[in-house]
Amino acid sequence: MLYNSISTCEKGGGTMKHIYDVMIIGGGPGGYTAALYGARAGLDTILFEKMSVGGQMVQTEQIDNYPGFEEGIDGFLLGEKMRKGAERFGAQTRLTEVHSVELAPDIKEVRTSDGTFYGRTVIVSTGAGPREMGLPGEKEFTGRGIHYCAACDGMFYRGKTVAVVGGGNTAAADALLLARVAKKVYVVHRRDTLRASKVYHESLMSAENIEFVWNSTVSELLHTDRLDGLRVKNVHTGEETDIALDGVFVAIGRKPVTDLVKDRLELDAAGYIKADETTRTSLPGVFAAGDVRTKALRQIVTAAADGAVAVHYAEEYLLQI
Ligand SMILES: Cc1cc2nc3c(=O)[nH]c(=O)nc-3n(C[C@H](O)[C@H](O)[C@H](O)COP(=O)(O)OP(=O)(O)OC[C@H]3O[C@@H](n4cnc5c(N)ncnc54)[C@H](O)[C@@H]3O)c2cc1C
Repeated sequence: MLYNSISTCEKGGGTMKHIYDVMIIGGGPGGYTAALYGARAGLDTILFEKMSVGGQMVQTEQIDNYPGFEEGIDGFLLGEKMRKGAERFGAQTRLTEVHSVELAPDIKEVRTSDGTFYGRTVIVSTGAGPREMGLPGEKEFTGRGIHYCAACDGMFYRGKTVAVVGGGNTAAADALLLARVAKKVYVVHRRDTLRASKVYHESLMSAENIEFVWNSTVSELLHTDRLDGLRVKNVHTGEETDIALDGVFVAIGRKPVTDLVKDRLELDAAGYIKADETTRTSLPGVFAAGDVRTKALRQIVTAAADGAVAVHYAEEYLLQI
């Protein structure tokens, strides 16, 4: 369906350029729901994904709170189902990283490793990524002792000693997953109780190879040419203790992925894209869906809802220009 009086191709620099109705950045549940709604509404829709289809969902084997799956569903599988559902109606997936964007003009630009793409609307659904500890050596040892996804990298620590840093749901789920493969799992948490949901508590407390290091933060990464351990500091006494281990899984929260747009769109104080329930951002024709925008609850079902709403308002915008 064409919402413009010209056509989906325009002359630029002597060559014809294709102009999409909707360009979506990010292939998580927000992005793929937008792709489904866009394509199903007859809009010329393309989605860019830099890593793996499904976004954060691929990090969890069991999703119980996305309706429609009475036994729950594996996150990777759900991502694949979302992709196929959107592609059934003609949405295109482009597995490439978006490096920069031009969002202000009527014809917006998305620059990727595969070239530049043009469109009348952009839906930013770049999600959220892990928060780092901010310690010296953390970046250097990322992937070589420091990890942010137990489901992705836990299997490298079969029979070894690891630590999980954090006390929320992700930390709890990571600790339980790691306890199935590792010899020993320390859980380093800055409080004396877990923030994680009660459903995790019994399994964590009864696991024989999980040991809690309460009221403690990580003060230093201990290493030679490889990570050998952690120095942890008791937040009340200031006492420091060294723990010898092979790997650390950091689960201290998430942060929005906004590098692409932080100089172009208004962000809130916490760095999320300012957009209300309409998903409209500070620029016309640009929408933010999912974890990347200001909202109360960051979940699959709310990201999916945003994707649908974003296309609703994108359609409204396309009818006006
Ligand atoms: C371990 C874990 C378990 C979870 N379990 C549950 C659960 O059980 N139930 C639940 O409801 N929620 C769960 N969540 C939260 C849920 O996964 C997120 O709320 C949801 O995935 C957010 O969707 P999104 O589309 O906004 O972003 P994401 O899922 O974060 O997807 C964003 C995508 O954008 C891509 N991207 C980013 N930048 C670029 C770029 N420059 N170019 C191209 N692509 C880019 C990323 O690679 C990513 O694939 C869990 C999260 C984690 C980490």
